[in-house]
Amino acid sequence: MPRIKMYTTDFCSYCNRAKRILESKNLEFEEINIHGSAEMRDEIEELTGRRDVPQIFIDDTHIGDDDDLAELAFSGKLDEMFNREGEGTQMEEIKKNSDGNGLEERNVIIIGGGTAGFAAGIYTSRAMLEPLLITGDALGGQLSLTLDLENYPGFFGTEAAKFIQGMQEQAERFGTEVRFDRVTEVDFNRQPFYVKTYDQAYLAKAIIICTGASPRTLNIPGEEKYGGRGVSYCATCDGFFFQEQRLVVVGGGDAAMEEAIFLTRFASEVYIVHRRDQLRASQILQERAFKNDKIKFIWSSIVEEIQGDGEKVTGALLKNVETDETQVFPIDGVFIFIGHIPNTELFESVIEMDDQDYVVVDNLQSTNIEGVFAAGDVHDHVFRQAITAGGAGAAAAISAEKFIAELENRAYPGQ
Ligand SMILES: Cc1cc2nc3c(=O)[nH]c(=O)nc-3n(C[C@H](O)[C@H](O)[C@H](O)COP(=O)(O)OP(=O)(O)OC[C@H]3O[C@@H](n4cnc5c(N)ncnc54)[C@H](O)[C@@H]3O)c2cc1C
Repeated sequence: MPRIKMYTTDFCSYCNRAKRILESKNLEFEEINIHGSAEMRDEIEELTGRRDVPQIFIDDTHIGDDDDLAELAFSGKLDEMFNREGEGTQMEEIKKNSDGNGLEERNVIIIGGGTAGFAAGIYTSRAMLEPLLITGDALGGQLSLTLDLENYPGFFGTEAAKFIQGMQEQAERFGTEVRFDRVTEVDFNRQPFYVKTYDQAYLAKAIIICTGASPRTLNIPGEEKYGGRGVSYCATCDGFFFQEQRLVVVGGGDAAMEEAIFLTRFASEVYIVHRRDQLRASQILQERAFKNDKIKFIWSSIVEEIQGDGEKVTGALLKNVETDETQVFPIDGVFIFIGHIPNTELFESVIEMDDQDYVVVDNLQSTNIEGVFAAGDVHDHVFRQAITAGGAGAAAAISAEKFIAELENRAYPGQ
């Protein structure tokens, strides 16, 4: 049996994601936590050329990070590597049944395992609808990218990881079935609706879309080339690689401030590059950032290029948008927090979206297709908070419950 080794750090959400992938496949692995060990950190960098975690090896072959592992898992290649027969062959059955015959039928399928998805899970399972929740790659959603949760009523200074675990346990306790899988195709032009994942296909009377949002990239030269080699979207995961180094944080919102403050635990200096001359972060976070001696601001500027020596980041080409002046700023790492794009690719030309690709819903969380609901950051580009996502998830669940009752000619409480 091939041996799996995974290098991790203490605050690494992407490492948790990789662990969950392996656990969902019942694969044992050895975890090597490099947090605090400069020697191991340098060893990993030498072995892989990477400055991010997790880094995963199967036997002595470096297979990459959590994204690479997810691709292997979802494509069935991981099963092949471990000579697992039977798994994955269900796809043949699914193809034969693409008309829906013989597929497992559920009352509700919730697509997404973030705050909105788990809130929908709790409500629909308490309504005895035995929902299926498909988590996608990021169990816990965007909250898995942060350390603490300070603004969710009742949860003051709670570790985000514990909050996520609590949501899952609560949803499962009431009867939500949580599956680690990714939805790859939907057909909402039929009832029951058709939902296909990497290794299953289902029918469902109602759907709740909670696919949230993903970090926006800068799309500049050097960004992709140096991804994991100095360019990062997760300070809590990769900050440890930058002890006593100079970093740039790009962005002016809450996430940028939080992550910049976190990075000062490791870095010698953190420069926040913002395209405007004032921040849009909340007042409390602005104050914390302004008070931090290690944080400095480069106003009205954008990063035009991320430069490196072929192996790792060495500088950022900055341009002042007011004067057009440019400068190469010597730097060891660039952390990017410039907002999010909704995860709606799957629903393109399937449901109505606005001009920024957010799902359009009415005040009952219903999309333009009866029986298909949406909740959370996938439709909300204004508030984008865990509490609002959770509230919308609960509302979508109640609407789905009512929809199913009507579909089955059952009385619905309150009618
Ligand atoms: C760094 C950071 C810090 C934050 N801090 C706070 C904070 O302190 N307080 C606060 O209130 N908010 C905070 N937020 C915002 C908060 O995390 C979001 O508003 C909230 O997570 C939105 O929840 P959601 O369920 O709508 O979407 P998400 O959390 O984005 O979850 C989306 C889910 O959908 C899944 N998914 C996507 N595509 C598919 C697919 N094809 N198939 C199946 N599943 C899929 C993903 O795997 C994920 O599980 C923070 C965000 C970030 C990035």
